[in-house]
Amino acid sequence: MYGLKAVVIGAGIGGLTAGIALRQAGYEVEVYDRVRELRPVGSGISLWSNGVKVLNHLGLGKQLAAIGGTMNYMEYRQINGNLLNHISLQPLVEEVGQRPYPVARRDLQNILLAKFEEVGGKLNLSTKCIGVKEGFSEVTAKFEDGSTAVGDILVAADGVRSLLRQYVLNDSVEPKYAGYVNWNGLVPISTALAPADTWSIYVGEHKRASLMPVAGNRFYFFFDVPLPLGTVNNFANYKNELKSHFQGWAEPVQRLIERIEPETVARVEIHDVGPINKLVKGRVALLGDAAHATCPDLGQGGCQAIEDGWVLANYLVSTNLSVPDALRRYELERKVRTTEIVNKARNRAEAIHGKDPEVTEKWYQQLAEESPLDVTSAIAKIIKGGPLH
Ligand SMILES: Cc1cc2nc3c(=O)[nH]c(=O)nc-3n(C[C@H](O)[C@H](O)[C@H](O)COP(=O)(O)OP(=O)(O)OC[C@H]3O[C@@H](n4cnc5c(N)ncnc54)[C@H](O)[C@@H]3O)c2cc1C
Repeated sequence: MYGLKAVVIGAGIGGLTAGIALRQAGYEVEVYDRVRELRPVGSGISLWSNGVKVLNHLGLGKQLAAIGGTMNYMEYRQINGNLLNHISLQPLVEEVGQRPYPVARRDLQNILLAKFEEVGGKLNLSTKCIGVKEGFSEVTAKFEDGSTAVGDILVAADGVRSLLRQYVLNDSVEPKYAGYVNWNGLVPISTALAPADTWSIYVGEHKRASLMPVAGNRFYFFFDVPLPLGTVNNFANYKNELKSHFQGWAEPVQRLIERIEPETVARVEIHDVGPINKLVKGRVALLGDAAHATCPDLGQGGCQAIEDGWVLANYLVSTNLSVPDALRRYELERKVRTTEIVNKARNRAEAIHGKDPEVTEKWYQQLAEESPLDVTSAIAKIIKGGPLH
């Protein structure tokens, strides 16, 4: 099914990746986003090898390697700084055939956007989609300003609070609060904080403090704290909040809090979605967080959005019964994969953040006792479930 037109709603990681994959598959592609200027929410993201492989295949291998941090090891530490486990990532890389890359979100968005434009995709900003209408042989997106866009397929990559999810499901599925708040940002790399080639994670009291290297001599850091929904979000309070939540934690954690620039930090109440049982309706396909927003505790939400775009484009070019038929095949494949990931990530979020304190205690023990190879094998298993083995 070449020579067709795709209308993509949302220019996040999911929408842009799908846009590139569809354009490379011969589709005319228009991406629409409601924002006036594309600015990623949050500062960093770990792209595990399943996501990296797809981007490599889309021709972004060099660009990604240039923005990716060198992450050779993982280490878990207790709140007093004592080492729980030190894990080489080399066995993982050898098993799956590709390094993972922690990246700054703005860098990732820049390379996706540049590629999308290089392959001839068209981006339209300040265009908020307010509805969709399907005809027999086309689908129309309606925008707030009264304009419309007509295509053979509509990709709904409009994020965790997707409007188009309701259209596909004939029902509204609200995002579910995961029970914790995440602060994230970037700071210059310093060995006074953590080794420069290591993802360092401090765990205790159902909280986490983490640092991972990205290009440009920066650490992407985050803090996680279980909190009720709706606590005050004011960047002027961030340092005091973090000092109080992480009181008594090891010196590098205190230094990190001192070094953050609060006005550049994102503070997010973590939500996930689903698993939902329908990803497509007619010519409309949900993709990325709109379909399966995922707790970040596996680092897989964005990687799944990337996989979605790849799989969707492949069915559209490799099967030729009809667009709705190709979309059903996409749904069948992606539902299995993303259901597993959403559930796994939610279970992990609960285990990390003390939903059942006994389970969290056991997790701390497991971190101390499990062999580094068990850790990398578990990560490899998730990676190898992706579409490019
Ligand atoms: C704290 C945190 C850490 C994370 N860490 C990782 C990680 O390490 N690894 C990983 O793989 N994933 C991670 N994730 C998940 C990842 O960020 C998301 O899965 C990914 O960004 C989803 O991309 P998306 O394109 O589906 O949605 P989004 O990035 O949300 O993009 C949706 C776009 O749609 C636009 N939009 C919405 N509604 C409309 C409308 N009506 N009309 C037009 N445009 C609209 C929005 O403006 C937005 O640009 C993390 C998430 C969080 C919150």
